[in-house]
Amino acid sequence: MTTNDLAMTGTTIDPSGCNCDDCLRGSSIPLHRATAAHLQGLMNGDLANATGLDLSDIEAVLDGL
Ligand SMILES: [Zn+2]
Repeated sequence: MTTNDLAMTGTTIDPSGCNCDDCLRGSSIPLHRATAAHLQGLMNGDLANATGLDLSDIEAVLDGL
């Protein structure tokens, strides 16, 4: 399976530790539960960045995992 097989359209990455309804339903993924594929989508712009983090600051992003 490649990352292209993952149905991630419309998925939003939320802040680490987020426990909102969207995260509970799975339509959003909290950063601490994001997989490598999610991170790739986030960096590609395929997934919405709702983490509040500047994605150019990779250290801050990795700290949230
Ligand atoms: Zn959330």
